[in-house]
Amino acid sequence: MKNKNTSILKGLISDKKKVVIVPHTSPDGDAIGSSLALMHLLKNMGHTVNVLSPNQPPYFLKWSPGFEEIIYYEFDEEKCSKIINNSDLIFTLDFNDLNRIGELGNLVKSSSSKIIMIDHHQNPNDYADLIFSKPDIGSTCELLYEIITQLGYKELINSKIASCLYLGIMTDTGSFQYSNVTSRTHEIVADLIKNGVDQSEIYNKVYNDASKSKLKVLGCALSNLKQIKELNTAYMYLKRKDLKEFDFKKGDSEGIVNYGLSLKNIKFSVIFIEDFEVENKIKISFRSQGDFSCNKFANNHFNGGGHTNAAGGIDKGPIEEIINKFKEVINQYKEELTNN
Ligand code: 5GP
Ligand code: MN
Repeated sequence: MKNKNTSILKGLISDKKKVVIVPHTSPDGDAIGSSLALMHLLKNMGHTVNVLSPNQPPYFLKWSPGFEEIIYYEFDEEKCSKIINNSDLIFTLDFNDLNRIGELGNLVKSSSSKIIMIDHHQNPNDYADLIFSKPDIGSTCELLYEIITQLGYKELINSKIASCLYLGIMTDTGSFQYSNVTSRTHEIVADLIKNGVDQSEIYNKVYNDASKSKLKVLGCALSNLKQIKELNTAYMYLKRKDLKEFDFKKGDSEGIVNYGLSLKNIKFSVIFIEDFEVENKIKISFRSQGDFSCNKFANNHFNGGGHTNAAGGIDKGPIEEIINKFKEVINQYKEELTNN
């Protein structure tokens, strides 16, 4: 399968370029996996490549091949600015709106480089010169595999690239449990395993590398779990004082929201987490089963977005007030949450 965008991209990388790759803020497995996979591919083709991340990923991604090469805007604004101003191409991976990369977005917007978006979220913004946007594909890593194949570079996928792509597919599908998994996803994964992925090792590095603090934080969230039974909804919260008490580290709260969905009949699960540093900043994660759109809910009420079954958002105010607001607005969704 060939399309116009793929031909344009092939043209853009047909001679040696200075390339910048940017994942979204608080990058997850898909953002880091796709960014590093593309970095390895383009470096192997002879391009100069830098991955610039707005901030640090959680500790359980540190093993990813090429992780040590990532440069962080939060630690070195000047270096990032120089690299962007001196670049030819900027790839933005696993997001579709420059507000997802904070101040780094202004540098990207004002640069004269060609911008290429590769992403799988809904409603892409139009900041890019070339847009690969596929909301029906489960992960940016899966989409990137398809693009690499369409470019005719499949034979360049080595074990490092395969491991990075596998990381993003595994994490964005909840280890192949979500409805975004298709037979094509499994075909791709089969090919990645043929190319040297050790899938059991990657699972263990991502999910079985917790410190005691992670389990303590999980225990705290679960002990705060509340059900709104008439709306098939569950929610949890983590306050800053709890995070401090349990020696919270970035990444410790990842995935906790999914536990709400393990309850019988629960269709919608939400977690509210007070920011560790900024007063009254609340990060919210949404997960759903079936048709209920977390993306729409996050977008309508909590300045966020994402996918149908997984989204996030941010709000400002005391956590009690944000939870009260949630308990209020959720009533508007009774019909969607209770039809089967
Ligand atoms: P998480 O709850 O794991 O942080 O995020 C779940 C999904 O929602 C991810 O696909 C992520 O990209 C998206 N997401 C998380 N936070 C935000 C946000 O603040 N804004 C938008 N637009 N999407 C978000
Ligand atoms: Mn993703």
